Amino acid sequence: MTTELEIGLYIFMLAGFLGYHIITRVPPLLHTPLMSATNAIAAISLVGSLVVAGSDYSNVPNGWVCTMLGLIAVTCSATNAVGGFLITDRMLRMFRTAGDRAAKRRPVELQAFGAVLAIVAVVTAILYATRPAGMAMGEYLHEHVAPEALRYCYIVSAALFVLGLKGLSSPRTARSGMGLAAFGMFVAVVGTLFHPHIVTYRWIILGFAIGTVVGGTMGLSIPMTAVPQRTAISHSLGALSACLVGVSEYFRYQGGIDRVTLTALDFEVIIGALTFTGSLIAAAKLQELLPGRPITYRGQNVFSMALLSVILVSAVYLVLTQAATPFFYVMVALSMVFGLLLVIPIGAADMPVVIALLNSYGGLADAAMGFVLMNKIQIITGSLDGTSGFLLSLLMCRAMNRSAMNVLFGAFGSVSEDEARAAAEAKGTVRNITAEETAVLFDTARSVIVVPGYGMAVAQAQHAVAELGSILHERGVDAKYAIHPVAGRMPGHMNVLLAEANVPYEQLCEMEQINPYFPEADIALVVGANDVTNPAAKTNKSSPLYGMPILEVARAKSIIVLKRSMRPGFAGVDNDLYYNENCMMLFGDAKDSITKLISEMKSLL
Ligand code: NAP
Repeated sequence: MTTELEIGLYIFMLAGFLGYHIITRVPPLLHTPLMSATNAIAAISLVGSLVVAGSDYSNVPNGWVCTMLGLIAVTCSATNAVGGFLITDRMLRMFRTAGDRAAKRRPVELQAFGAVLAIVAVVTAILYATRPAGMAMGEYLHEHVAPEALRYCYIVSAALFVLGLKGLSSPRTARSGMGLAAFGMFVAVVGTLFHPHIVTYRWIILGFAIGTVVGGTMGLSIPMTAVPQRTAISHSLGALSACLVGVSEYFRYQGGIDRVTLTALDFEVIIGALTFTGSLIAAAKLQELLPGRPITYRGQNVFSMALLSVILVSAVYLVLTQAATPFFYVMVALSMVFGLLLVIPIGAADMPVVIALLNSYGGLADAAMGFVLMNKIQIITGSLDGTSGFLLSLLMCRAMNRSAMNVLFGAFGSVSEDEARAAAEAKGTVRNITAEETAVLFDTARSVIVVPGYGMAVAQAQHAVAELGSILHERGVDAKYAIHPVAGRMPGHMNVLLAEANVPYEQLCEMEQINPYFPEADIALVVGANDVTNPAAKTNKSSPLYGMPILEVARAKSIIVLKRSMRPGFAGVDNDLYYNENCMMLFGDAKDSITKLISEMKSLL
């Protein structure tokens, strides 16, 4: 006979394959919204948290501990759900074509609200019609409807999540897809409120209220340039929620749980705890609250491996003894320490890969929670989230031509400034250009390719870049944007920033698409991009960039580079491009330089 566990494992694998199939179809343009969307969907840990916060612990000594853990878990998950869907929607609203912008905006929200109201009305009418005569509605809902309804709610919401992710295969369908996913979350949460184990709503309401305020504020106010940090914080909250639900279950049954469930529970709390602290460190590094450089010490890997071994041995011991022991809580604390040690030696610039991996771990913790509570929707979404994070981290590594091992243990980007300066001196001189001279060049150009990079994000120059682009278009110049898959510091970073500045997405060209056009371009304007344009990636076998596909800027008729100095970029290596005879450097902050360039261009008219 097939057991619940086997069914759960089948579901986990199938959801993983489905996730792979859907997520490989998401274009690089939408990789950042994908990260934040899977993050929002991973807030399905709410389902487990609600049951823990609302259950009856009157027979459990100090049962209030479980309730409080549930309250914190509900707060964290609600923050993620509200914040995650809001920020994803904010991003997706920016991805529009020139035609969409000209057309009157359809009130999608009103239509969606109307549809939800209609569904709620139909369901209420059916419930009234099927209620046995004389039975109170509350009794009917709790005793007869809830157990069946819950199952159907979860099936519906799983289908909506899958359709939602499928919507991300095109910017046209992405927003409505995310609307479906958000509705899926709504259905799952409303269904869970009828869970037979929930006897009180007091803590659930409190957790929801706090989560909605915090998540809503984060979702509406966080600038697009801070999306990587926000995503990391979200992972940490989701993972904390999964970990606390596991701790609460252990506390409730005092270890007296069957071995299979206890194995899943150990996995849930270990992965949840290390993802919680690892993600906090990632966010702190990106926010520059901690030094961005890799922090290393002698014997680090040996110490980390020893710690991991202790954690794993404790987990096995707990499963074998099935007894209440403080060892469990020590194991959780050690897992948190392991999470810190895992991320501290990695440089801030590698954080996007780390964040994607932590996303994947968070998904696995959610899936493990699903196995502990035998909740299929959590197994499905955990598997989808795990696959998505894993795939994104692999895609980033591939686009950088680096292995995941090199990212996690390589302490990359730590070439000293002295080494870089020495390398630069060996290569010769660079030509400077002023904003006035650049404006004269632009005056005669018929075709321009703008190459944005991390410096555009630092300078927050996206609006100035977009203004320059529209001035060029107005003057009949063929202006395009060349987007490298790992330009910036997260996948699709440049797409989000330019979409925020109202650049229609059909003007954003992927690397393979734009590279053949560089020889025809009168000007390639490099805005704070460095590594992604470095010809050494093709020609110099000893360069750390060797093998990484690049934007072939060097083939343009003239190249103008906007940056502040000759300092290297993320890879810490000098850029051969700057010594090309057709390359000119406009030194300064990218936003200031473009603003000056625009005013010079206007004065030439
Ligand atoms: P980059 O190689 O890091 O170079 C950015 C350049 O921007 C720097 O040389 C810097 O020079 C300049 N800059 C910084 N602030 C500026 C400002 N205010 N105004 C003007 N310029 C400014 O960036 P990239 O070309 O975009 O390449 C991205 C790198 O990140 C790649 O090596 C990629 O592998 C790595 N990476 C990307 C991702 C991802 O998902 N996107 C993930 C992990 C790693 P100055 O200091 O002289 O101004």
